[in-house]
Amino acid sequence: MKRQIERVIPKSARPGMVGDGFRVYNFIPGAVLQRRISPFLMLDFAAEFNFTPSEQVRGVDVHPHKGFETVTIAYKGSVAHHDSAGNSGIINPGDVQWMTAGAGILHKEYHEQEFSKTGGPFEMVQLWVNLPKKDKSVTPHYQAITADQMGKYSIPNNGGVVNVIAGNVSDVKGPAATYSPVNLFDIKLNKGGELNFTIPASHNAALLMVNGNASIDGTPATEHSFVLFKDGGEEITIKADNDAVILFMSGEPINEPIASYGPFVMNTQEEIYEAIEEFQAGKFGTLV
Ligand code: MN
Repeated sequence: MKRQIERVIPKSARPGMVGDGFRVYNFIPGAVLQRRISPFLMLDFAAEFNFTPSEQVRGVDVHPHKGFETVTIAYKGSVAHHDSAGNSGIINPGDVQWMTAGAGILHKEYHEQEFSKTGGPFEMVQLWVNLPKKDKSVTPHYQAITADQMGKYSIPNNGGVVNVIAGNVSDVKGPAATYSPVNLFDIKLNKGGELNFTIPASHNAALLMVNGNASIDGTPATEHSFVLFKDGGEEITIKADNDAVILFMSGEPINEPIASYGPFVMNTQEEIYEAIEEFQAGKFGTLV
């Protein structure tokens, strides 16, 4: 059975700023998508923007996360990060960083130094994935997933490739370990390419048109729009009108209560107060 489209959401007229380095269009929860697409909590899309060279590194300064995961997908430009556990790294184009904030962490995210100096096109996505109640207090950790580690599904008839970050397309699996069933695909379609795949009928599903235009089971999806699928149905067909880059996500809903306050996502208001107290008491470590 086909998976039907619920709606196609265009990007907002103006982006918002996260710090001074991330010029983002928010789709989840967004103005339209008030209902949460469990297990996905938040999606910010930094559509391609040409940054001028800067000696001062742009980004977002030290901030906490607790109770969920942040997934950063770099398409153009590089992002550097540091955290309170002493970890640091660079997310280069084509790479993904899957950070499990779990029990709580402080970090900062900013343009990589060399990219800042030269400037140029910057394009990325940050997706927040909820953790089941039983896993909200795991020790914070990262999965640095480089482009060459991803599962590669070749689309028939020279249609392009699916870089499988998490979950699976047919029998091609992605390397990311997840706490609930999640599919996350970086789809590169050539003009006229057609991708057919199936997902479990129980998943919530959506996709972001990062570049290019496509039709999803005949419904047009233009560049920078976000497509929310209805519940039910397994089969999805995507046909590219021109060369297209698409981020597809689906996941088994986590049917647990959500209490959230900024960068803390827990199950009860009591746990939110605890998280704020832990943060203020310096229990997430220190980072300058
Ligand atoms: Mn962050």
